[in-house]
Amino acid sequence: MSDQIRVRFAPSPTGGLHLGGVRTALFNYFFARQNNGKFILRVEDTDQTRFVEGAEQYIMDCLDWCGISPDESPQTGGKFGPYRQSERKDLYRQYAEQLVEQGHAYYAFDTPEELEQKREETPNFQYGHTHRNELRNSIFLPVNEVQALLDAGTPHVIRIKMPPDETIGFTDLIRGRVNFETNQVDDKVLLKADGMPTYHLAVVVDDYLMKITHAFRGEEWLPSAPVHLLLWEYLGWKEAMPQWAHLPLILKPDGHGKLSKRDADQLGFPVYAMNWTDPKSGDLTKGFRELGFLPEAFVNLLAMLGWNNGTDQELFSLEELVREFSLDRISKAGAQFDFEKAKWFNHEWIKQTPAKDLEPLVIHTLRSHQISAENNPQLKKIIDLVKDRCTLVSDFYEHSAYFFQKPTAETTDWPSIQPKWNAAKTDFFQSFVQKSAAINNWTAAEIEINFKNLAAEKGIKIGEVMLPFRVILVGGKFGPAVFEIAELLGIKEVSERIGAALLFLGR
Ligand code: GLU
Repeated sequence: MSDQIRVRFAPSPTGGLHLGGVRTALFNYFFARQNNGKFILRVEDTDQTRFVEGAEQYIMDCLDWCGISPDESPQTGGKFGPYRQSERKDLYRQYAEQLVEQGHAYYAFDTPEELEQKREETPNFQYGHTHRNELRNSIFLPVNEVQALLDAGTPHVIRIKMPPDETIGFTDLIRGRVNFETNQVDDKVLLKADGMPTYHLAVVVDDYLMKITHAFRGEEWLPSAPVHLLLWEYLGWKEAMPQWAHLPLILKPDGHGKLSKRDADQLGFPVYAMNWTDPKSGDLTKGFRELGFLPEAFVNLLAMLGWNNGTDQELFSLEELVREFSLDRISKAGAQFDFEKAKWFNHEWIKQTPAKDLEPLVIHTLRSHQISAENNPQLKKIIDLVKDRCTLVSDFYEHSAYFFQKPTAETTDWPSIQPKWNAAKTDFFQSFVQKSAAINNWTAAEIEINFKNLAAEKGIKIGEVMLPFRVILVGGKFGPAVFEIAELLGIKEVSERIGAALLFLGR
Protein backbone atom coordinates (compact mmCIF):
# COMPACT_ATOMS: atom_id res chain seq x y z
CA MET A 1 0.00 0.00 0.00
CA SER A 2 1.65 3.18 -1.10
CA ASP A 3 -0.25 5.48 1.22
CA GLN A 4 0.72 3.61 4.35
CA ILE A 5 2.13 5.74 7.17
CA ARG A 6 5.81 4.99 7.62
CA VAL A 7 7.93 6.67 10.27
CA ARG A 8 11.51 6.13 11.24
CA PHE A 9 13.68 6.50 14.29
CA ALA A 10 17.15 7.17 12.94
CA PRO A 11 19.74 7.25 15.69
CA SER A 12 23.48 7.29 15.21
CA PRO A 13 25.21 4.52 17.14
CA THR A 14 27.59 6.79 19.01
CA GLY A 15 27.00 5.78 22.63
CA GLY A 16 24.24 5.61 25.22
CA LEU A 17 20.72 6.60 24.23
CA HIS A 18 19.76 9.98 25.67
CA LEU A 19 16.21 10.26 26.96
CA GLY A 20 15.53 12.82 24.22
CA GLY A 21 16.28 10.12 21.69
CA VAL A 22 13.90 7.72 23.37
CA ARG A 23 11.19 10.38 23.35
CA THR A 24 11.75 10.87 19.61
CA ALA A 25 11.40 7.13 19.11
CA LEU A 26 8.22 7.11 21.20
CA PHE A 27 6.50 9.90 19.31
CA ASN A 28 7.29 8.19 16.03
CA TYR A 29 5.94 4.96 17.47
CA PHE A 30 2.72 6.49 18.83
CA PHE A 31 2.02 8.06 15.48
CA ALA A 32 2.75 4.89 13.53
CA ARG A 33 0.63 2.68 15.76
CA GLN A 34 -2.24 5.14 15.89
CA ASN A 35 -2.37 5.12 12.10
CA ASN A 36 -1.72 1.43 11.53
CA GLY A 37 1.58 2.40 10.03
CA LYS A 38 5.11 1.06 10.27
CA PHE A 39 7.76 2.05 12.77
CA ILE A 40 11.23 1.70 11.31
CA LEU A 41 14.64 1.74 12.96
CA ARG A 42 17.34 3.01 10.67
CA VAL A 43 20.87 3.07 11.99
CA GLU A 44 22.69 6.18 10.77
CA ASP A 45 26.27 5.05 11.03
CA THR A 46 27.91 6.92 8.19
CA ASP A 47 30.22 8.87 10.48
CA GLN A 48 32.88 6.25 11.04
CA THR A 49 34.79 8.52 13.42
CA ARG A 50 31.89 8.56 15.86
CA PHE A 51 30.86 4.91 15.50
CA VAL A 52 30.89 3.01 18.77
CA GLU A 53 30.87 -0.76 19.02
CA GLY A 54 27.82 -2.15 20.77
CA ALA A 55 25.77 1.03 20.51
CA GLU A 56 23.36 -0.41 17.94
CA GLN A 57 22.52 -3.43 20.07
CA TYR A 58 22.10 -1.12 23.03
CA ILE A 59 19.61 1.02 21.09
CA MET A 60 17.63 -2.09 20.14
CA ASP A 61 17.62 -3.21 23.76
CA CYS A 62 16.37 0.20 24.89
CA LEU A 63 13.49 0.08 22.41
CA ASP A 64 12.64 -3.45 23.53
CA TRP A 65 12.73 -2.39 27.17
CA CYS A 66 10.31 0.45 26.40
CA GLY A 67 8.03 -1.99 24.56
CA ILE A 68 8.35 -0.26 21.19
CA SER A 69 10.09 -2.77 19.00
CA PRO A 70 10.43 -1.68 15.38
CA ASP A 71 8.59 -3.33 12.49
CA GLU A 72 11.64 -3.00 10.27
CA SER A 73 15.21 -2.71 11.48
CA PRO A 74 18.72 -4.02 10.84
CA GLN A 75 17.88 -6.99 13.00
CA THR A 76 14.33 -7.74 11.92
CA GLY A 77 14.91 -6.83 8.28
CA GLY A 78 12.18 -5.63 5.92
CA LYS A 79 11.46 -4.82 2.30
CA PHE A 80 13.40 -1.56 2.35
CA GLY A 81 16.70 -2.78 3.75
CA PRO A 82 19.48 -2.70 4.46
CA TYR A 83 18.62 -0.57 7.47
CA ARG A 84 22.21 0.32 8.34
CA GLN A 85 23.45 3.23 6.28
CA SER A 86 27.01 1.92 6.15
CA GLU A 87 25.62 -1.09 4.26
CA ARG A 88 23.95 1.23 1.78
CA LYS A 89 27.15 3.11 1.03
CA ASP A 90 27.22 2.39 -2.71
CA LEU A 91 23.76 3.73 -3.16
CA TYR A 92 24.41 7.35 -2.34
CA ARG A 93 27.16 8.37 -4.76
CA GLN A 94 24.91 8.30 -7.83
CA TYR A 95 22.62 10.89 -6.24
CA ALA A 96 25.52 13.15 -5.32
CA GLU A 97 26.87 12.84 -8.87
CA GLN A 98 23.43 13.58 -10.28
CA LEU A 99 23.38 16.79 -8.28
CA VAL A 100 26.81 17.75 -9.61
CA GLU A 101 25.64 17.17 -13.17
CA GLN A 102 22.59 19.31 -12.56
CA GLY A 103 24.74 22.10 -11.16
CA HIS A 104 23.31 21.82 -7.64
CA ALA A 105 26.47 20.39 -6.16
CA TYR A 106 30.19 20.47 -6.89
CA TYR A 107 33.47 18.72 -6.21
CA ALA A 108 35.69 20.30 -3.61
CA PHE A 109 39.34 19.32 -3.42
CA ASP A 110 40.41 21.50 -0.50
CA THR A 111 42.58 19.70 1.98
CA PRO A 112 41.85 20.00 5.70
CA GLU A 113 44.99 22.18 5.99
CA GLU A 114 43.83 24.53 3.26
CA LEU A 115 40.46 24.89 4.89
CA GLU A 116 42.08 25.53 8.23
CA GLN A 117 44.20 28.27 6.75
CA LYS A 118 41.18 29.84 5.09
CA ARG A 119 39.36 29.81 8.41
CA GLU A 120 42.24 31.55 10.09
CA GLU A 121 42.44 34.24 7.40
CA THR A 122 38.72 34.85 7.12
CA PRO A 123 36.64 35.94 10.10
CA ASN A 124 33.36 33.98 10.33
CA PHE A 125 34.40 31.84 7.37
CA GLN A 126 31.60 29.89 5.79
CA TYR A 127 32.07 27.59 2.80
CA GLY A 128 29.28 29.13 0.77
CA HIS A 129 28.38 31.58 -1.93
CA THR A 130 30.66 34.36 -0.58
CA HIS A 131 33.84 32.29 -0.53
CA ARG A 132 33.33 29.25 -2.73
CA ASN A 133 34.88 31.11 -5.64
CA GLU A 134 38.15 31.41 -3.79
CA LEU A 135 38.57 27.72 -3.04
CA ARG A 136 39.77 24.61 -4.86
CA ASN A 137 36.52 23.29 -6.23
CA SER A 138 34.82 22.56 -9.51
CA ILE A 139 33.09 25.92 -9.49
CA PHE A 140 36.30 27.88 -9.39
CA LEU A 141 38.76 25.60 -11.21
CA PRO A 142 38.71 25.17 -15.01
CA VAL A 143 36.94 22.07 -16.28
CA ASN A 144 40.08 20.32 -17.55
CA GLU A 145 41.85 20.86 -14.25
CA VAL A 146 38.91 19.38 -12.39
CA GLN A 147 38.94 16.39 -14.69
CA ALA A 148 42.67 15.96 -14.18
CA LEU A 149 42.24 16.03 -10.43
CA LEU A 150 39.44 13.48 -10.62
CA ASP A 151 41.42 11.27 -12.98
CA ALA A 152 44.37 11.38 -10.63
CA GLY A 153 42.12 10.15 -7.85
CA THR A 154 42.58 13.33 -5.80
CA PRO A 155 40.60 13.09 -2.57
CA HIS A 156 37.51 15.22 -2.77
CA VAL A 157 34.11 15.78 -1.30
CA ILE A 158 30.86 16.76 -2.95
CA ARG A 159 29.17 19.85 -1.55
CA ILE A 160 25.70 21.21 -2.11
CA LYS A 161 25.67 24.58 -3.85
CA MET A 162 23.36 26.67 -1.73
CA PRO A 163 21.54 29.23 -3.84
CA PRO A 164 22.12 32.82 -2.61
CA ASP A 165 19.41 35.25 -1.50
CA GLU A 166 16.49 32.87 -1.28
CA THR A 167 13.94 32.31 1.40
CA ILE A 168 12.87 28.70 1.55
CA GLY A 169 10.56 27.00 3.97
CA PHE A 170 8.22 24.18 4.86
CA THR A 171 5.26 23.59 7.12
CA ASP A 172 6.26 21.79 10.27
CA LEU A 173 3.55 19.66 11.88
CA ILE A 174 4.25 21.29 15.24
CA ARG A 175 5.66 24.70 14.41
CA GLY A 176 3.67 25.64 11.32
CA ARG A 177 5.51 27.59 8.65
CA VAL A 178 9.28 27.70 9.16
CA ASN A 179 11.46 29.78 6.83
CA PHE A 180 15.19 29.96 6.28
CA GLU A 181 17.49 32.37 4.47
CA THR A 182 19.75 30.40 2.18
CA ASN A 183 22.56 32.92 2.72
CA GLN A 184 22.83 31.77 6.30
CA VAL A 185 23.48 28.17 5.35
CA ASP A 186 26.88 26.92 4.20
CA ASP A 187 27.54 24.49 1.37
CA LYS A 188 27.27 21.33 3.39
CA VAL A 189 29.29 18.30 2.41
CA LEU A 190 27.04 15.62 0.92
CA LEU A 191 29.56 12.94 0.07
CA LYS A 192 32.78 12.58 2.00
CA ALA A 193 36.24 11.77 0.70
CA ASP A 194 35.87 8.20 1.96
CA GLY A 195 32.83 7.77 -0.26
CA MET A 196 30.42 7.77 2.63
CA PRO A 197 27.48 10.13 2.47
CA THR A 198 27.05 12.67 5.22
CA TYR A 199 23.92 12.65 7.31
CA HIS A 200 22.32 15.27 5.02
CA LEU A 201 22.49 13.24 1.85
CA ALA A 202 21.83 9.90 3.49
CA VAL A 203 18.79 11.07 5.43
CA VAL A 204 17.10 12.41 2.31
CA VAL A 205 17.96 9.47 0.07
CA ASP A 206 16.88 6.95 2.68
CA ASP A 207 13.70 8.73 3.68
CA TYR A 208 12.84 8.70 0.00
CA LEU A 209 13.80 5.11 -0.75
CA MET A 210 12.23 3.82 2.44
CA LYS A 211 9.01 5.68 1.63
CA ILE A 212 8.98 7.55 4.92
CA THR A 213 5.83 9.64 5.21
CA HIS A 214 6.38 11.42 8.54
CA ALA A 215 9.47 12.18 10.56
CA PHE A 216 9.46 13.21 14.18
CA ARG A 217 12.88 14.39 15.25
CA GLY A 218 14.45 16.71 17.78
CA GLU A 219 14.39 20.48 17.35
CA GLU A 220 18.18 20.45 17.07
CA TRP A 221 17.75 19.16 13.52
CA LEU A 222 15.71 22.16 12.42
CA PRO A 223 18.79 24.09 11.15
CA SER A 224 19.51 21.17 8.80
CA ALA A 225 16.06 21.36 7.26
CA PRO A 226 16.91 23.92 4.51
CA VAL A 227 19.62 21.62 3.15
CA HIS A 228 17.21 18.71 3.18
CA LEU A 229 14.45 20.76 1.57
CA LEU A 230 16.71 21.68 -1.32
CA LEU A 231 17.89 18.12 -1.75
CA TRP A 232 14.32 16.86 -1.95
CA GLU A 233 13.65 19.48 -4.57
CA TYR A 234 16.85 19.03 -6.60
CA LEU A 235 16.53 15.27 -6.67
CA GLY A 236 13.03 15.70 -8.04
CA TRP A 237 11.30 14.08 -5.09
CA LYS A 238 9.56 17.10 -3.58
CA GLU A 239 6.13 15.52 -3.69
CA ALA A 240 7.36 12.57 -1.64
CA MET A 241 9.01 14.61 1.11
CA PRO A 242 7.94 13.38 4.55
CA GLN A 243 6.04 15.69 6.81
CA TRP A 244 8.38 16.80 9.54
CA ALA A 245 7.61 17.40 13.17
CA HIS A 246 10.46 18.92 15.15
CA LEU A 247 9.96 18.03 18.79
CA PRO A 248 10.63 20.60 21.52
CA LEU A 249 13.96 20.40 23.30
CA ILE A 250 14.23 18.73 26.67
CA LEU A 251 15.65 21.40 28.96
CA LYS A 252 17.65 21.35 32.16
CA PRO A 253 15.60 21.50 35.36
CA ASP A 254 16.15 25.27 35.61
CA GLY A 255 14.90 25.71 32.05
CA HIS A 256 18.18 27.17 30.83
CA GLY A 257 19.45 25.20 27.86
CA LYS A 258 19.27 21.68 26.60
CA LEU A 259 19.69 18.86 29.11
CA SER A 260 23.05 17.28 28.45
CA LYS A 261 24.67 14.21 29.89
CA ARG A 262 27.14 16.41 31.72
CA ASP A 263 24.41 18.48 33.39
CA ALA A 264 22.67 15.35 34.51
CA ASP A 265 25.90 13.91 35.94
CA GLN A 266 26.35 17.09 37.93
CA LEU A 267 22.76 17.14 39.11
CA GLY A 268 22.92 13.48 40.04
CA PHE A 269 20.37 11.81 37.81
CA PRO A 270 20.65 9.72 34.63
CA VAL A 271 19.90 10.81 31.09
CA TYR A 272 20.43 7.45 29.46
CA ALA A 273 17.64 4.91 29.22
CA MET A 274 19.82 2.04 30.44
CA ASN A 275 23.33 1.59 31.79
CA TRP A 276 25.93 2.25 29.15
CA THR A 277 29.54 1.16 29.34
CA ASP A 278 31.86 2.88 26.94
CA PRO A 279 33.75 0.06 25.22
CA LYS A 280 36.96 2.08 24.96
CA SER A 281 37.25 3.77 28.32
CA GLY A 282 35.21 1.21 30.23
CA ASP A 283 33.34 4.11 31.87
CA LEU A 284 29.89 3.22 33.07
CA THR A 285 27.07 5.72 32.74
CA LYS A 286 24.00 4.88 34.78
CA GLY A 287 20.64 4.50 33.17
CA PHE A 288 17.03 4.83 34.30
CA ARG A 289 16.42 1.09 34.10
CA GLU A 290 19.19 0.12 36.48
CA LEU A 291 18.34 2.97 38.81
CA GLY A 292 14.99 1.30 39.32
CA PHE A 293 12.59 2.84 36.84
CA LEU A 294 9.82 0.76 35.32
CA PRO A 295 9.64 0.97 31.54
CA GLU A 296 5.98 1.98 31.82
CA ALA A 297 6.97 4.96 33.97
CA PHE A 298 9.87 5.90 31.75
CA VAL A 299 7.66 5.87 28.65
CA ASN A 300 4.95 7.80 30.46
CA LEU A 301 7.22 10.53 31.80
CA LEU A 302 8.93 11.01 28.44
CA ALA A 303 5.61 11.27 26.63
CA MET A 304 4.64 14.08 28.97
CA LEU A 305 7.75 16.08 28.10
CA GLY A 306 6.14 18.32 25.54
CA TRP A 307 2.76 16.65 25.18
CA ASN A 308 -0.51 16.35 27.13
CA ASN A 309 -4.00 15.25 26.20
CA GLY A 310 -5.60 18.52 27.20
CA THR A 311 -6.79 17.30 30.60
CA ASP A 312 -5.07 16.94 33.97
CA GLN A 313 -4.40 13.27 33.33
CA GLU A 314 -0.75 12.43 33.74
CA LEU A 315 -0.66 8.66 33.99
CA PHE A 316 -0.91 6.89 30.65
CA SER A 317 -0.09 3.38 29.59
CA LEU A 318 1.59 2.80 26.24
CA GLU A 319 -1.76 1.72 24.77
CA GLU A 320 -3.42 4.88 26.04
CA LEU A 321 -0.63 7.01 24.62
CA VAL A 322 -1.07 5.38 21.23
CA ARG A 323 -4.77 6.10 21.43
CA GLU A 324 -4.60 9.62 22.80
CA PHE A 325 -1.50 10.97 21.09
CA SER A 326 -2.23 14.00 18.96
CA LEU A 327 0.05 16.28 17.02
CA ASP A 328 -1.82 19.41 17.94
CA ARG A 329 -1.11 18.89 21.63
CA ILE A 330 2.66 18.83 21.23
CA SER A 331 4.07 22.09 22.50
CA LYS A 332 6.55 24.23 20.66
CA ALA A 333 8.27 25.35 23.81
CA GLY A 334 11.06 23.34 25.39
CA ALA A 335 10.08 20.95 28.19
CA GLN A 336 11.88 21.24 31.52
CA PHE A 337 13.08 17.96 32.89
CA ASP A 338 12.27 17.51 36.56
CA PHE A 339 13.81 14.44 38.16
CA GLU A 340 11.53 14.63 41.19
CA LYS A 341 8.56 14.50 38.85
CA ALA A 342 10.17 11.58 37.02
CA LYS A 343 10.35 9.73 40.33
CA TRP A 344 6.74 10.58 41.02
CA PHE A 345 5.76 8.83 37.79
CA ASN A 346 7.73 5.78 38.82
CA HIS A 347 6.18 5.73 42.27
CA GLU A 348 2.70 5.88 40.76
CA TRP A 349 3.55 3.08 38.33
CA ILE A 350 4.98 0.87 41.06
CA LYS A 351 1.77 1.38 43.03
CA GLN A 352 -0.44 0.40 40.13
CA THR A 353 1.63 -2.49 38.79
CA PRO A 354 0.39 -5.92 39.96
CA ALA A 355 2.74 -7.74 42.33
CA LYS A 356 3.15 -10.60 39.88
CA ASP A 357 4.64 -8.22 37.32
CA LEU A 358 6.94 -6.61 39.88
CA GLU A 359 8.06 -9.96 41.24
CA PRO A 360 10.96 -10.66 38.82
CA LEU A 361 12.32 -7.15 39.32
CA VAL A 362 12.09 -7.40 43.07
CA ILE A 363 13.78 -10.79 43.03
CA HIS A 364 16.57 -9.25 40.98
CA THR A 365 16.96 -6.31 43.36
CA LEU A 366 17.03 -8.55 46.40
CA ARG A 367 19.49 -10.88 44.76
CA SER A 368 21.91 -8.00 44.30
CA HIS A 369 21.83 -7.77 48.12
CA GLN A 370 22.42 -11.50 48.52
CA ILE A 371 18.80 -12.20 49.39
CA SER A 372 17.22 -15.02 47.50
CA ALA A 373 13.48 -14.53 47.36
CA GLU A 374 12.51 -16.56 44.31
CA ASN A 375 10.95 -19.43 46.16
CA ASN A 376 9.26 -17.43 48.82
CA PRO A 377 5.53 -18.18 48.62
CA GLN A 378 4.78 -14.91 50.42
CA LEU A 379 6.68 -12.73 47.97
CA LYS A 380 3.66 -11.38 46.12
CA LYS A 381 1.97 -10.48 49.40
CA ILE A 382 5.14 -8.80 50.63
CA ILE A 383 5.33 -6.78 47.42
CA ASP A 384 1.71 -5.72 47.74
CA LEU A 385 2.30 -4.71 51.32
CA VAL A 386 5.30 -2.47 50.70
CA LYS A 387 5.03 -1.25 47.12
CA ASP A 388 3.26 1.98 48.08
CA ARG A 389 6.45 2.94 49.89
CA CYS A 390 8.77 2.37 46.98
CA THR A 391 9.71 5.08 44.53
CA LEU A 392 12.35 3.06 42.72
CA VAL A 393 12.42 -0.69 42.21
CA SER A 394 15.67 -0.66 44.18
CA ASP A 395 13.72 0.65 47.20
CA PHE A 396 12.18 -2.81 47.59
CA TYR A 397 15.39 -3.84 49.29
CA GLU A 398 15.11 -1.27 52.05
CA HIS A 399 11.39 -1.84 52.44
CA SER A 400 11.31 -5.61 52.39
CA ALA A 401 14.70 -6.93 53.45
CA TYR A 402 13.44 -7.53 57.00
CA PHE A 403 11.00 -10.12 55.69
CA PHE A 404 13.98 -12.21 54.60
CA GLN A 405 16.66 -11.32 57.10
CA LYS A 406 16.36 -11.00 60.84
CA PRO A 407 17.22 -7.49 62.01
CA THR A 408 20.69 -7.56 63.53
CA ALA A 409 21.43 -6.30 67.00
CA GLU A 410 23.82 -3.74 65.48
CA THR A 411 21.36 -2.20 63.07
CA THR A 412 18.21 -2.32 65.17
CA ASP A 413 16.97 1.02 66.37
CA TRP A 414 17.17 0.12 70.07
CA PRO A 415 17.40 3.73 71.23
CA SER A 416 13.81 4.26 70.20
CA ILE A 417 12.56 1.62 72.66
CA GLN A 418 15.28 0.91 75.21
CA PRO A 419 14.91 4.00 77.46
CA LYS A 420 11.28 3.10 78.19
CA TRP A 421 11.82 -0.62 78.43
CA ASN A 422 10.76 -2.28 81.68
CA ALA A 423 9.93 -5.63 83.23
CA ALA A 424 6.26 -5.26 82.37
CA LYS A 425 7.08 -5.12 78.70
CA THR A 426 9.33 -8.16 78.92
CA ASP A 427 6.51 -9.99 80.60
CA PHE A 428 4.04 -8.85 77.98
CA PHE A 429 6.15 -10.10 75.07
CA GLN A 430 7.00 -13.37 76.79
CA SER A 431 3.31 -13.99 77.35
CA PHE A 432 2.52 -12.97 73.80
CA VAL A 433 4.90 -15.60 72.46
CA GLN A 434 3.31 -18.23 74.67
CA LYS A 435 -0.23 -17.23 73.71
CA SER A 436 0.64 -17.06 70.03
CA ALA A 437 0.96 -20.79 69.94
CA ALA A 438 -2.76 -20.96 70.53
CA ILE A 439 -3.68 -18.70 67.64
CA ASN A 440 -5.20 -21.08 65.11
CA ASN A 441 -5.53 -18.67 62.33
CA TRP A 442 -2.32 -16.66 62.02
CA THR A 443 -3.78 -13.65 60.26
CA ALA A 444 -3.21 -9.96 60.88
CA ALA A 445 -6.69 -9.62 62.32
CA GLU A 446 -6.30 -12.55 64.74
CA ILE A 447 -2.83 -11.46 65.81
CA GLU A 448 -4.13 -7.97 66.49
CA ILE A 449 -7.05 -9.21 68.62
CA ASN A 450 -4.77 -11.42 70.66
CA PHE A 451 -2.16 -8.72 71.06
CA LYS A 452 -4.71 -6.16 72.22
CA ASN A 453 -6.53 -8.55 74.52
CA LEU A 454 -3.28 -9.47 76.16
CA ALA A 455 -2.36 -5.82 76.66
CA ALA A 456 -5.74 -5.17 78.27
CA GLU A 457 -5.34 -8.23 80.47
CA LYS A 458 -1.91 -7.07 81.61
CA GLY A 459 -3.11 -3.51 82.16
CA ILE A 460 -0.58 -2.19 79.67
CA LYS A 461 -1.41 0.62 77.27
CA ILE A 462 -1.43 -0.65 73.69
CA GLY A 463 0.61 2.37 72.57
CA GLU A 464 3.46 1.27 74.80
CA VAL A 465 3.92 -2.09 73.11
CA MET A 466 3.09 -1.31 69.50
CA LEU A 467 6.31 0.54 68.73
CA PRO A 468 8.51 -2.04 70.44
CA PHE A 469 6.69 -4.78 68.52
CA ARG A 470 7.49 -3.01 65.25
CA VAL A 471 11.12 -2.35 66.11
CA ILE A 472 11.57 -5.97 67.21
CA LEU A 473 10.15 -7.33 63.95
CA VAL A 474 11.49 -4.76 61.49
CA GLY A 475 14.57 -3.34 63.16
CA GLY A 476 13.32 0.24 62.85
CA LYS A 477 10.36 2.56 63.12
CA PHE A 478 9.14 2.03 59.58
CA GLY A 479 7.06 -0.28 57.47
CA PRO A 480 3.39 -1.05 56.87
CA ALA A 481 0.87 -2.17 59.49
CA VAL A 482 2.75 -4.21 62.07
CA PHE A 483 0.18 -7.01 62.31
CA GLU A 484 0.36 -7.47 58.55
CA ILE A 485 4.11 -7.80 58.90
CA ALA A 486 3.66 -10.33 61.68
CA GLU A 487 1.26 -12.36 59.56
CA LEU A 488 3.71 -12.61 56.66
CA LEU A 489 6.66 -13.37 58.91
CA GLY A 490 4.79 -16.30 60.41
CA ILE A 491 4.50 -17.37 64.02
CA LYS A 492 7.89 -19.05 64.22
CA GLU A 493 9.81 -16.08 62.93
CA VAL A 494 7.86 -13.62 65.10
CA SER A 495 8.58 -15.71 68.20
CA GLU A 496 12.26 -15.95 67.33
CA ARG A 497 12.60 -12.22 66.78
CA ILE A 498 10.90 -11.47 70.07
CA GLY A 499 13.13 -14.00 71.80
CA ALA A 500 16.29 -12.45 70.36
CA ALA A 501 15.16 -8.94 71.27
CA LEU A 502 14.37 -9.90 74.86
CA LEU A 503 17.86 -11.34 75.19
CA PHE A 504 19.34 -8.11 73.96
CA LEU A 505 17.11 -5.93 76.12
CA GLY A 506 18.71 -7.76 78.95
CA ARG A 507 15.94 -9.35 80.92
N1 GLU B 1 20.92 10.48 12.77
C1 GLU B 1 20.22 11.59 13.32
C2 GLU B 1 20.34 11.46 14.84
O1 GLU B 1 21.29 10.88 15.27
C3 GLU B 1 18.78 11.57 12.86
C4 GLU B 1 18.15 12.89 12.69
C5 GLU B 1 16.86 12.77 11.92
O2 GLU B 1 15.93 12.14 12.45
O3 GLU B 1 16.75 13.25 10.80
O4 GLU B 1 19.55 11.89 15.61
